[in-house]
Amino acid sequence: MKNWLSDIDKQLLQIRNQYGNTYYQGFKTGKLDSALLEELAEKQTEVLADTGIVDKLNQILSEEDSGAEEAIQILRKSILLRRVIDGVRVEKHPALVSLKGKIQLQENEFIPSFGGEQNGYSARRSILSESDDMECRRNAFLSLQPLLNNISDICYELIEVANVASSDSGYTSYFDFLLAQEDMTNDQLESAMVSALHATEDSYLEFLAIGREMLKSERINLFDLPFIQGELTRETDKLFSKRNRFTDLRETLNSIGIDLSEFPVTIETVDSPNAGTCFVLGSRDIRLILGLEGGYFGHYVAFHEFGHALHYSMQPDSAILSDQGVCMETMADFFATLLSDPDWLSEHTLMTAQEVQKFLRMKKLSDSYRIRTMIRDTMFESEIFRNPGKSFDEVWLNLTEKILGVQAKEAIWSPFSIYRPAYSKNYVFSHFLSKSLTELTSMKKDSSSENTKRLFSLFNDLVRQGNLEPFEDRAVKLGIDYCALGTDINL
Ligand SMILES: [Zn+2]
Repeated sequence: MKNWLSDIDKQLLQIRNQYGNTYYQGFKTGKLDSALLEELAEKQTEVLADTGIVDKLNQILSEEDSGAEEAIQILRKSILLRRVIDGVRVEKHPALVSLKGKIQLQENEFIPSFGGEQNGYSARRSILSESDDMECRRNAFLSLQPLLNNISDICYELIEVANVASSDSGYTSYFDFLLAQEDMTNDQLESAMVSALHATEDSYLEFLAIGREMLKSERINLFDLPFIQGELTRETDKLFSKRNRFTDLRETLNSIGIDLSEFPVTIETVDSPNAGTCFVLGSRDIRLILGLEGGYFGHYVAFHEFGHALHYSMQPDSAILSDQGVCMETMADFFATLLSDPDWLSEHTLMTAQEVQKFLRMKKLSDSYRIRTMIRDTMFESEIFRNPGKSFDEVWLNLTEKILGVQAKEAIWSPFSIYRPAYSKNYVFSHFLSKSLTELTSMKKDSSSENTKRLFSLFNDLVRQGNLEPFEDRAVKLGIDYCALGTDINL
C-alpha cells in the first residue's frame, strides 16, 4: 500500500479519536469544549493541506485500471480520501463548527421542565410514553419549546452557512452534499422513503385505530402518539423492566463467545437528550452512554448501542475506511434484532409462545410509528436545507400531518435535524436492512445460540474491511436489495 496514504490515514485516525474524546467529555459534563473542537478542525485541515496530496490522488484516479487487487484497493482508498478532503472543507468550516457547537451546548445544558419541576430528558420521555394524564403529556411534550425558541436563530444561520460551505464544493445544499458523501442519490433516497411509507402504511393505520379506541376519542394529538406506542407493549415492558439489561446483554454476548468484561467498552448511564450514544476514543476504547429508561426500549437501546461498539471494534484501524451512517445503524439494529427473536424472548422474558407472537404483532405497529417519524424528520431536513429561510414550524407541521396523520399547532422539531441532517434516514434504512440480514441467518433453524453465532459471523464478514467496498455492494452480494425497502420485506 502507498506509504503516504497510510501516513495520512494514521494522522486522521488520531484526530478522529480526539474528536470522540472531546464529544464524550462534552456530553458527560454538559460543557462541550468548542475551542478544542476548533483546534482539531485546524489540525485536520493542516494534515490534508499537505501540498501534493491532491496531485497524487488525481494521478491515481486517472491511471488505467490494472485489475490487480492492490490497485483496486488503492483506487477505492483514494476516492474515499478525496471525499474526506471534501468533507473537511465543508464540515470543518469554522463558522459551521462554531454554530453546531453552540446548538449542542444549549441542548446539553437545557433541562426540560414541566409540572413545576425540572425533570430532565429521560423523565420527559417516560411521561410521554407512560402518563395517562393528557395534560401531563401535553406539558412534557411542549417542555422543549424554550430550548427551540432560544436556538432557532442560530439554526437558521447554520443552514445558510452550511449551504454556502457546500456550494464551494459544488452542491446546491448541505443536505445534498451529505447524501453525496454517502454515495446516495436523491432519487435513491426519495424512492426509499416512498417504499418505506408504503411498507408501514397498513400497520400505521391500525396503530391510529387502536389509539382512538385506547383514548376513547376520535381526535389524536401529537403528544398522544408516544403514549399509544407505549401502551401497545406495556405488558411486555413490565417483563423487560424486571430484567437487568446489562445482565441480559452480558449473557447474550457470552452465547456468541464475547466476554463483556474483556471487551474494550465502558457503559455508563446518564440523563441525556439522546437515549443512547456511542463514542469512539480509540478502537480499543469505546464508551457507551445510555439514558435511564427501562422496559423493552431500555434493552433495545443497550443492544443497539452495543452493536455500534461491536461494529467499531471490528473496523480496520483506518479513518479513511470508516463505515458510514447507513451501515453503522444497520449493524447496530442488526444486533438489536436479537431482542425480536422468538427464542430469545421466550428464554429471557418467560413469555408463552402465544404472548411472544402478540408482542411481535404489537411491536410491528409500534415500529410503523417510529419509522414514519424518521421519514418525517428526513423530509423535514431535506426541505429546510433546500429552502433556507422557510419556517421550520410550518414545514414540520405540514409533514407531520401528511405522514403521521395528526394535526398540531406547536412544532417540536429536533435540534438533531439541524446539526446532523441527513442522518435520520439511516434509521429507516437500518430497520429494513437489519431485518433482511437477520432473515439470512435464520434460514436453518436450530438452537438459539447457534443462530446467534451465525449472526455474529455474518456481521464479521460484512464489516471487517470497513468501507473498502461500498456497503450497498456488500449488501447486494448477500442478496439484499438495498433500495427496494419494504417492497418485499415485512415491516
Ligand atoms: Zn445508532
